[in-house]
Amino acid sequence: MALNILFAAGPGEWEVWRPHLDTALRKAGLDVTLRPLPDLAPDEVDYILYAPDSSLQDFAPFTRLKAVLNLWAGVEDVITNPTLRVPLARMVDPGLERGMVEWVCTHVLRHHLGIDAHIRNPDHRWSPHVPPLATDRPVTMLGLGELGSAAARALSDFGFPVTGWSRSAKAIPGISCTHGQLGLVQALELAQIVVLLLPATARTENILNAETLAMLPKGAVILNPGRGTLIDDDALLAALDRGHIAHATLDTFRSEPLPADHPYWQHPQVTVTPHIASTTRPETASEVLAGNIARSEAGRPLLDLVDPAQGY
Ligand code: NDP
Repeated sequence: MALNILFAAGPGEWEVWRPHLDTALRKAGLDVTLRPLPDLAPDEVDYILYAPDSSLQDFAPFTRLKAVLNLWAGVEDVITNPTLRVPLARMVDPGLERGMVEWVCTHVLRHHLGIDAHIRNPDHRWSPHVPPLATDRPVTMLGLGELGSAAARALSDFGFPVTGWSRSAKAIPGISCTHGQLGLVQALELAQIVVLLLPATARTENILNAETLAMLPKGAVILNPGRGTLIDDDALLAALDRGHIAHATLDTFRSEPLPADHPYWQHPQVTVTPHIASTTRPETASEVLAGNIARSEAGRPLLDLVDPAQGY
């Protein structure tokens, strides 16, 4: 019997994804009917390909649903939905990963090389200050999952000494891995540049707060492509104002789009990017989704399942 797969995402997404999904599902040897919301009756749907900006917010009518496959890496808006009673797989996509590696390396190198001083040089001063080599610039990665570990490896390949922090113990060649509360203190005390690639959960909320910001060396730089909830905004603004933190490059915020009157827009030591650090690429992600559904149909567990107890 053909599988019924419902595509439920924001406006305009269906047209972008459809050709890639059609090709990938065919290549995976699946006999499927793929339709956008609301073209399938809820009690006919086997799988939902889902983005949280979809108008679909109630999973209860989907009585024969086997799983929801998220189109985004961040799952905080789905795993907390009380009507979700089937397994949820998050997005792990090679295209998404490459995009995040590029964003992180770009912004680490911007601060490491002090490029801003040359771009903004209103007095046309000849100021040949030579930056240190990457080997003398410790970087800390908070979060060593799919994205954090890929970015950590890329930074290590540049020569940066990278310390990574995660919930469980890890061993990644070339990265000094830590975990636990003591590990967090060690990772922060060392860092000249800190990158946040943690998920938004109850345990990670305000992980950078007045106390943990004070653990960073004076002049440290913060990059947050993770989630806005990871940072206590008032504490960060205070640390920037007193010069303890030299710069923050922020891609994610508690409220998005960032409100026009938010102090981050005006702050000379803050760079705002509009949640573009990376995005799921339908070309590569469609193959991941089709492969995962094929696995499930072959009786094997879905890959990249979210643990509801951990929230990611
Ligand atoms: P993963 O789930 O693969 O990795 C999450 C990492 O965070 C893991 O290393 C995990 O530890 C660690 N972690 C989670 N909770 C804690 C905790 N309480 N203490 C210490 N470490 C913790 O996620 P991804 O790498 O795929 O993505 C990370 C986040 O990036 C996403 O959740 C999303 O919010 C954000 N993102 C942002 C984008 C953007 O454009 N700005 C695009 C895509 C994603 P462990 O390994 O031990 O489980």
